[in-house]
Amino acid sequence: MKWYQKPWSAVLFLFLFFPVGLFLMWRYQPWKMGLKIAVTAVIGVIFIAVIVPGDPVPPGSPAAVMSLETGADFSTTSTAPAPTFSMPPMPTATTTSPSALATTLATVATMKSIAAATTTTTRQARFVVYWGHTGDKVHISPNCRTITNGVLSGTLDECKAEGHTDGWCGVCSGGWSDERFYREGNPYAD
Ligand SMILES: [Zn+2]
Repeated sequence: MKWYQKPWSAVLFLFLFFPVGLFLMWRYQPWKMGLKIAVTAVIGVIFIAVIVPGDPVPPGSPAAVMSLETGADFSTTSTAPAPTFSMPPMPTATTTSPSALATTLATVATMKSIAAATTTTTRQARFVVYWGHTGDKVHISPNCRTITNGVLSGTLDECKAEGHTDGWCGVCSGGWSDERFYREGNPYAD
């Protein structure tokens, strides 16, 4: 295999000088048709974003970052089976500019990561129970008057492991059960 037939040279030229890279990819690389079309479409979007007058793409903008990330992705996929992924609809000049599309994609990714982090925090806080240094009960409320010498908190499993195996407190936890706790979480947890 000549050097220009190897996957890395196609990826390198896609990165440095895309017309050569596109040629090498289409001519020599056995990648899936969907991947080749996706690569060509992404480079086309970036190229249009760079040359469109009045719509410059400064270094570090989402479109420029996207091209860097794209190059990295293809170098890792060149030896493995090509992944199948769907491209977003191609923007038209009259509705959405390419750089606006890149900005939208970056914004969506950021919002997804924030939402995932928020969900994790909420879930951990909700499934907390309380117990005292003495007594065998599980308490739903950290302010239960039967906890007199300092309140401890943790998961229900941790509470039971500490020896609090006599069920839910009759003062603060009337009507509560393990099943209801796992279903609803703790409304007193913050
Ligand atoms: Zn209690």
